[in-house]
Amino acid sequence: MTVKPLYRRVLLKASGEALMGEQHFGIDVSVVDRIAADIAEARALGIEVGVVIGGGNIFRGVAVASKGGDRVTGDHMGMLATVINSLALRTSLNKIGVDAVVLSAIAMPELCESFSQRQATAYMNQGKVVIFAGGTGNPFFTTDSAAALRAAEIGADALFKGTQVDGVYSADPKKDPNATRFERISHGDVIKRGLSIMDTAAIALARENNIPIIVYSIHEKGGFGDILRGGGRCTVVAD
Ligand code: UDP
Repeated sequence: MTVKPLYRRVLLKASGEALMGEQHFGIDVSVVDRIAADIAEARALGIEVGVVIGGGNIFRGVAVASKGGDRVTGDHMGMLATVINSLALRTSLNKIGVDAVVLSAIAMPELCESFSQRQATAYMNQGKVVIFAGGTGNPFFTTDSAAALRAAEIGADALFKGTQVDGVYSADPKKDPNATRFERISHGDVIKRGLSIMDTAAIALARENNIPIIVYSIHEKGGFGDILRGGGRCTVVAD
């Protein structure tokens, strides 16, 4: 039986740390390959996919700032880290025959195309996976905010936030055995309760644009596809 997918176009946010696998730094290609396979499954369902990847597996701007360095330069380094991760994902997608393109918020024409909303939308309409690199292109922002921003710009039906756990919990489930998982919670309640699934600016932007955030475990093979087909384990953040 063919199941009609729940969404037409989605934005997937994966943190840089998700790409490390068991390593303490950098990229585990087998993990990137697995995430690429999940995206291929979504494409096979006919869903258009945009992706934002973080850079925390390589560099975060605060690492410079915390040692007395210039935060803006640190953030530039962090944004470059997201470009490295984006190129890794494009390679993994291309390897399995998925057409994917990297659009960077910071121009680097020898490596990839520059971001524009029109070009991104055109590529998505053609069925290409669009990987948004370089965050928002501005220091003092995060790739969570970039994900909410790009989701709004491409008219995504949902923002998928792939995390280390399978949803939003009342407390950190790794520290508190009594933590319970929400099936559904509003954007406002996530902010009010200070549940750290994404930064507040990102959640507020998603709320303003009526974009639900689906929080799920990025480590669950096939989990993305299961949710897209209406099953799987996740928390839906929606008003
Ligand atoms: N960054 C930035 N502006 C953006 C997005 C990211 O300056 O719009 C920098 C910032 O230094 C950040 C780093 O890039 O720490 C990596 O992004 P992030 O921390 O969001 O990655 P993740 O935690 O998702 O791996």
